[in-house]
Amino acid sequence: MTFLIHPAIPPVRIKRIILATGCRCELCGKEILAADMDVHTIGAAGDKTGEAIAGLEREILVLCPRCHQDVHEQGTGEEEQRALLSFRKPEVIQEIRKILSTKQKPYVPPEVDLETAYSDVTDLRPH
Ligand SMILES: [Zn+2]
Ligand SMILES: [Zn+2]
Repeated sequence: MTFLIHPAIPPVRIKRIILATGCRCELCGKEILAADMDVHTIGAAGDKTGEAIAGLEREILVLCPRCHQDVHEQGTGEEEQRALLSFRKPEVIQEIRKILSTKQKPYVPPEVDLETAYSDVTDLRPH
């Protein structure tokens, strides 16, 4: 099962945040592959797209998929989730803060695939 990650945090930063925690689940302490790790948003992740992401280190938890599922399915309270933040090491907090506060690079469009570009052009021709 997949859960929405914080919509305001770019995936590349999510990955760095996971690495910053040492790929260790903040609930059970298990170390797993970074690719399998989840970043959970405390409270409602809903309409936060475009929100400033600096300071969001207090709004997210790095969890293994099992704990992540538990948090959602057992309806772990927001307060309980926030309590987990107090176990986060100061250097990890620092690192996540740094990841979130660096200015975002402007969007660079991917290189144009010639074949796709060509078929787009032919599509535009009147027929
Ligand atoms: Zn876990
Ligand atoms: Zn979640």
